[in-house]
Amino acid sequence: MALSLLGWQKNKIQDFCSTIQEVTQSISFCENCGCMTVGDTCQNCRGSDPNQSPCPLICVVEKPTDVFFIQKFKPLDGSFHVLGGKLSPSNGVEPEDLRIESLQNRIRLMPNAEIVFALSSDMESEVTIHFITSLFQDIPSLQFSRLARGMPAGSSLEFTDELTLTHALDHRIPLT
Ligand SMILES: [Zn+2]
Repeated sequence: MALSLLGWQKNKIQDFCSTIQEVTQSISFCENCGCMTVGDTCQNCRGSDPNQSPCPLICVVEKPTDVFFIQKFKPLDGSFHVLGGKLSPSNGVEPEDLRIESLQNRIRLMPNAEIVFALSSDMESEVTIHFITSLFQDIPSLQFSRLARGMPAGSSLEFTDELTLTHALDHRIPLT
């Protein structure tokens, strides 16, 4: 990185350094939902009143950057919750290592909410989803959903892996 910076103009290096410094000093993670914010609590959590929303929706993601990807391509009419990882007992990641307790607190205030899991397609995500949904069996009005699985846009069958093709066939969509 240092070597590549040598090719930059000095004023650009100074701008870059001050931006990095500003980010590390001012940006943090919301203590409630885990999204990036300035201060302890994000604007959404500061101003949110779950009873005001007719269709509360919480999109559960793994990393703060996932929020940006989703908002960039498909802005959601709802809020996000960043877990900070996925359950992985074999790697020592237990429920207390993730932002699950604050998710529980949020969801219990929104008994009619839809919780959308926007996690990766792997075994750790499955374990995480199973664990979190099992915490709310006493609230039957909650709806849980996950991202659809299937063929990536523009892909060819011959380059599709077995798991993706299996999911795509299992969750095929009727032609209307
Ligand atoms: Zn927040």
